[in-house]
Amino acid sequence: MLFVSCAMCLHASEPGTSQPPGLIDSCRYTDDAAAQAAWRPMEGTAPVSMVTSDGCPALRMPCNFSGTKIVRASWDRHGEIDLSECSGIRFEMRCPNIFPVSDFHIYFESGAGWYTTSFSLESTTAWNTIIIDKSNTQIEGKPAGWDKVRTIRISAWCGGGIDTELLLSNIICVGVLGGDATVAILRADSVATAQPGELGSVTSFAESMGKMLRAQGIAYAMLSDLDATRECLAKARLVILPYNPAIPDAALDSLTTFLEHGGKLMTFYGLHPRLVPLVHIETGNYIAQKAAGQFAALKFEAGALPGAPPVVGQRSWNIIETLPVPGASRVLAEWIDAQDKPSGHAAMVGSSNCIAMSHVLLTDNGVNKQRLLLAMVGQLVPAVWQQAAAAGIAQIGRIRGFSGFDDAVATIPRLTRGNRPGVADAIHTAKQLRGQAQKLATQGHHAEARDVSGEAARRLLDAYCQAQGPMAGDEFRAFWCHDAYGVEGMTWDAVIKQLADNRFTAVFPNMLWGGSASYFSKVLPQSPTLAQHGDAIAECVAACRKYKIQCHVWKVCWNLGGSAPEDFVLRMRAEGRLQMSSDGAESLWLCPSHPANQKLEIDAMVEVARNYDVDGLHFDYIRYQGLEHCFCAGCRQRFELARGSALTLWPNDVLPGGSARAEWLEWRRSHITAVVKAVREQVHTFKPQVKISAAVFGNWSDARDSVAQDWKLWCERGYLDFVCPMDYTPSNAYFTNLLRNQQWLTGHVPFYPGIGASATNPALGTDGVIEQILSTRSEGTGGFIIFNLNQSVMRELLPHLGQGISAAK
Ligand SMILES: [Zn+2]
Repeated sequence: MLFVSCAMCLHASEPGTSQPPGLIDSCRYTDDAAAQAAWRPMEGTAPVSMVTSDGCPALRMPCNFSGTKIVRASWDRHGEIDLSECSGIRFEMRCPNIFPVSDFHIYFESGAGWYTTSFSLESTTAWNTIIIDKSNTQIEGKPAGWDKVRTIRISAWCGGGIDTELLLSNIICVGVLGGDATVAILRADSVATAQPGELGSVTSFAESMGKMLRAQGIAYAMLSDLDATRECLAKARLVILPYNPAIPDAALDSLTTFLEHGGKLMTFYGLHPRLVPLVHIETGNYIAQKAAGQFAALKFEAGALPGAPPVVGQRSWNIIETLPVPGASRVLAEWIDAQDKPSGHAAMVGSSNCIAMSHVLLTDNGVNKQRLLLAMVGQLVPAVWQQAAAAGIAQIGRIRGFSGFDDAVATIPRLTRGNRPGVADAIHTAKQLRGQAQKLATQGHHAEARDVSGEAARRLLDAYCQAQGPMAGDEFRAFWCHDAYGVEGMTWDAVIKQLADNRFTAVFPNMLWGGSASYFSKVLPQSPTLAQHGDAIAECVAACRKYKIQCHVWKVCWNLGGSAPEDFVLRMRAEGRLQMSSDGAESLWLCPSHPANQKLEIDAMVEVARNYDVDGLHFDYIRYQGLEHCFCAGCRQRFELARGSALTLWPNDVLPGGSARAEWLEWRRSHITAVVKAVREQVHTFKPQVKISAAVFGNWSDARDSVAQDWKLWCERGYLDFVCPMDYTPSNAYFTNLLRNQQWLTGHVPFYPGIGASATNPALGTDGVIEQILSTRSEGTGGFIIFNLNQSVMRELLPHLGQGISAAK
């Protein structure tokens, strides 16, 4: 009997039927005792039990946070699992109230360490499918490889003293080689010991390769070069080396066998000499660019790589020459420079069993780049075109808040306020295109089906965006912009005009740091870019006045951020003004308890208000780095002076459990608060209309101690005119819960929640940003601010918002 009562059960194995491949734990135990034997609670955590939810058996994990001191509820499932041949795992989870949970984490114990990552739940009313990607995990300690996982741990970190519960079901492997995946990424984990400096790049290029494959619907397994055996590679059709500065001998042996038996290879930025004769592609010299823009795009020979765009932008800064072997391989694409002139260097070379690119695959030029990757994989493994076409069709209508295509086309027209004929047209076109894509796919025209389904998805997203409407009253609509000079390739005038055209009301440009200014400052060292590009505030403010947009100048406090001139850093060091950790390591942040540092922060902000016609001053990094800072000699001296007596044990007296701990935390807060207060008071003596605001951590109770950021107090005392909590999360449920909490923390002071358009993983996307804007409206915040204004936001997000949610009334 196969009984399906909800989507979740589709993945489950029924009693008496065989287990689906890759199943780790269905979480369907016969009784509580069996469940408790498998899942062990951490000390203080309540045991699991079996429940039925929507007709499906599930594991109940109680998070009893009220009246206890536990920092997390946590359960361990012991048992050896080999996750070496997959891309990660998937499970179903439900949590009716995520408000008391600050963070969900999963951990995989292996050897003397752990692989770990956080995850979030989008919905509190339905089951969530969570995908954990191995390439997106961090390492704690010294794990011995994904083949030696012996514990899976799930933790809900306490964020509030209220009880809640998790329901868990169907833990299953995804991207299983020989199962759903024929493509393997080989990650160069061996560099961790051989070349530790390369680990960051190795991890990041493997991760971005995985993300791009997934976006194209290509299932892949993430393998480690530490345990890639012949048997394992034999299950793959294609192996990708995304960035492998070294390959261990054993992995080279496996790759050799793989290629000798008809396996295909895709390789980036160099090729190991042992592989050269097997793939008939050679490599030459390392070449750094002579000037920026020398390697600006890949230009393909007509027909050389079917399905690839003719030109794909990629701003590379160096290459390793990649050369064809006459008669055995050919140049597929050449690098062209920023003026579209040929550079004379091959960008991509192909043979019958390999495609080699002379640099790594960067993530710039997103859609085009993904299409290029699909064409590369499709050339070597034609079957992926079918996978990609099916995934493309399934993707149409996958818009946040809708269960799928049918739901989206039925519901979107009902969202429309007023007369928006474009919505019906766009839906009609999307439907037609979807039908066309399905037809093309059944005829075997997979590349075309993929293109048409992409267009259908874009039309439906257009319809969704156009169906939105503006808020009835006034709304504060803002962007943070991290670059003092705005958006690359545009003037401030052009940027601000576009913001105004899409009816945004304010911009927050980052004009000053702890030790540098992008304007003619007499207080802070001037940024080296100033001589070249001119006064950034002057240019931005002029544009803002012209288009009637508010300008709130954003300051990164304390943090020198690599932009302070060397002589300034040397002087700060000599004067004992830099922060020290408890174990004596210096960091390039100014010490907040040093009176001269406070004065510098205050004077810089006041100078901006005095010299420019700004609407506001905006604090960022208005906090300590963390609990481990600052323990400089000056901090000790000033703390002892403030309390009127010497400490006997430094720093133990102020560390957790120390006799002066509470006093110490309060003293830290006093320095941060003093700066906010002083700026407010001084600026308001001469320009009372200038608004003072701050970007703050969303979780106030945590931030108050950990980074001394007491923004609730700043609101109560009237130091801030409004506050912008950085509520960056891909989960709208969590976002909404944050807003409810912040509502009472801020009291009468307005708060404009920060939406992390480019700061969440997975990325929010246009639909995710719209969903969160709608939440700010339903919670009545009166506005929002989005991070971060850049080229892709200008191109994609902003016009989509302007179509509906920020449209003219
Ligand atoms: Zn200090």
